[in-house]
Amino acid sequence: MKYPRLFAPLDLGFMRLPNRIVMGSMHTGLEDRARDFPKLAAYFAERARGGAGLLVSGGIAPNRAGWAKPFAGKLSSPHEVDRHRLVTDAVHDAGGRICMQILHTGRYAYHPFPVAPSAIRAPINRFKPRELSSHGVRDQIADFVNCAVLAQQAGYDGVEIMGSEGYFINEFLAPRTNERRDEWGGDLVGRSRLALEIVRQTRAAVGERFIIIFRISGLDLVEGGGTGAEVEWLASQMEGAGASMLNTGIGWHEARIPTIAGVVPRGAFGWVSARIKAATRLPVIATNRFNAPVDADALIGSGAADLISMARPLLADPDLPRKAQEGREDEINTCIACNQGCLDKVFENQRATCLVNPRAAYETELLVEKTVAPKRVAVIGAGPAGLACATTLAERGHRVTLFEQAAEMGGQFRYAREVPGKEDFHDTLRYFARRVALTGVELRLNTHADAAGLADEGFDEFVVSSGVSARVPAIDGITHEKVITYPELLSGARKAGDRVAVIGAGGIGFDVAAFLTYRQTDYFEEWGIDRTLTARGGLVARRAPAAASARRVYLLQRKPGKPGVGLGKTTGWIHRATLKHRGVVMISGVVYRRIDDAGLHISADGAEKVLDVDHVIVCAGQESVNGLVSELSRTGRPVHVIGGALLANELDAERAIREGVTLAASL
Ligand code: NAP
Ligand code: SF4
Repeated sequence: MKYPRLFAPLDLGFMRLPNRIVMGSMHTGLEDRARDFPKLAAYFAERARGGAGLLVSGGIAPNRAGWAKPFAGKLSSPHEVDRHRLVTDAVHDAGGRICMQILHTGRYAYHPFPVAPSAIRAPINRFKPRELSSHGVRDQIADFVNCAVLAQQAGYDGVEIMGSEGYFINEFLAPRTNERRDEWGGDLVGRSRLALEIVRQTRAAVGERFIIIFRISGLDLVEGGGTGAEVEWLASQMEGAGASMLNTGIGWHEARIPTIAGVVPRGAFGWVSARIKAATRLPVIATNRFNAPVDADALIGSGAADLISMARPLLADPDLPRKAQEGREDEINTCIACNQGCLDKVFENQRATCLVNPRAAYETELLVEKTVAPKRVAVIGAGPAGLACATTLAERGHRVTLFEQAAEMGGQFRYAREVPGKEDFHDTLRYFARRVALTGVELRLNTHADAAGLADEGFDEFVVSSGVSARVPAIDGITHEKVITYPELLSGARKAGDRVAVIGAGGIGFDVAAFLTYRQTDYFEEWGIDRTLTARGGLVARRAPAAASARRVYLLQRKPGKPGVGLGKTTGWIHRATLKHRGVVMISGVVYRRIDDAGLHISADGAEKVLDVDHVIVCAGQESVNGLVSELSRTGRPVHVIGGALLANELDAERAIREGVTLAASL
């Protein structure tokens, strides 16, 4: 077996987990309404069939005060039990095991009545919490216990008690948010009392044959957070309190340090789990940025953890465990840590899905079934939309020819993968290359498809996924040799000098500025993380020069206001902070005058300026390439248009892949 540590069973005494892969908790939005539970059941059943050893549900509140927002998922009364049975039955029928996460959001609750240890507002919430009385704290504990008992009645195999990420329990643990002087605050023992009481009373109520995972915050990454010694002490007390396992939490939601984005090295926080593990005999789950079985197996092998949590990677590919176990890891659809399809959607109150797997959380709606009427289909353009469409069509039994005029498939992903922090995009192209081979798609690279030739080949239908071309803005001197397009830069066809102006501060302008200013630095040093965990919250003063770039880069936009406001909700701040660390100069409200030997002439803030740069990189959006559509329409056969060829303005890989799969599922 290729990953012997990852696929070693784990005996919990009353239950045996078949392997060490835990699907970590991930809110999908389907937890909030009873009518969505059949969809939630199908979502989890698919992941149970994929072979994960243990699943953990999205966060379910133990009471109204603790729900994330009004009418968010809650389990506090018997009439709410039945809907959960749909999930637990579906998972058990699929041969899996599932714990329900109990999440009390404390001062992060987005409603007017949050409760917390002290009345201190979170910087990321406009609602100020009410300080609980001592009696009120006991009521909250009772609600946790009641919630766990109801979860047991609903058929869950256990619960995960969420004690990290800056939520309710974590708020009691940290001096940052706990200024109490009663038995629930003060010293470490007082601040830890709530966490230990919840676990102790829950164990007493549910008996011995029920999993209790406590998610402990190993690294708060906020001022006034816990120290390593405090975390270790709490971990050491959890076995006596009745926990079955500890999961590792990394970073409060209000922390201004990336912990799960692509810029975080794979498996970056294994050392945090190792410290927790050294303090307890309980099995410890490591988490954050494990998206490949090889890293997961190696961490367990190193003794740093017993299990590995993968949440987003199992959204991206429910079959990851099975594929890894069977040595088919080249078939894994790897999570690229973009957050675009999952967390960004949750924070915008939409259902989570996955950029690389649009079926995630749509298992009952986006059905990919064998066709009874195979057709010959030509797909023109092998970017994300075309690849997703062609391979899904072929999987369904259609005969598919995929035309690509470049020497390599991938479209815009070929450029994205060159951006530091987007290395995982290589895996998407690896996945599609393997899937093209497995599904029998006939791939014709270096082939310019023209309408006459396509018509002659006798295809039944055409899919135009010919993507986009980089927009060339009408600026005087745009043909000057200083001008480089972003595809030329990122493909390595042209190199930039030491002083560079970037026209356009959209997603790609930010990526290009990050690419231009990248310097191999230590992630922990760049973001100021104290790996000794002696400082509170694991923070040390950031050493700015560690990240500063030697290259002078200007990032420009015509709009007034802060650049980057349109970037992803959960990642935009990281892009902005990264460029700030590196000294990129951002200018808004720019009018481009001309480009000549002196550089880029602009006016901004009512003044004319010349940016004395060696090169000007154009990242001014894209235009659709879809000339074939009208020509192919004349054949009288159906012509479909997807991805950037359909709409360049909102060029977005999530939409492109979803359109590709949705169309393929319908033909
Ligand atoms: P974009 O986000 O639409 O940005 C293009 C930029 O070019 C705009 O900021 C616009 O700003 C400027 N622009 C447009 N027309 C111009 C013109 N004629 N002359 C000069 N400037 C012009 O497009 P993108 O950066 O190419 O990104 C494309 C898509 O890729 C995005 O929509 C996003 O979905 C995806 N993406 C996202 C990320 C991310 O979130 N991290 C990263 C990469 C790509 P002004 O008009 O204000 O100058
Ligand atoms: Fe991973 Fe992106 Fe999919 Fe989220 S949307 S699961 S981050 S690939």
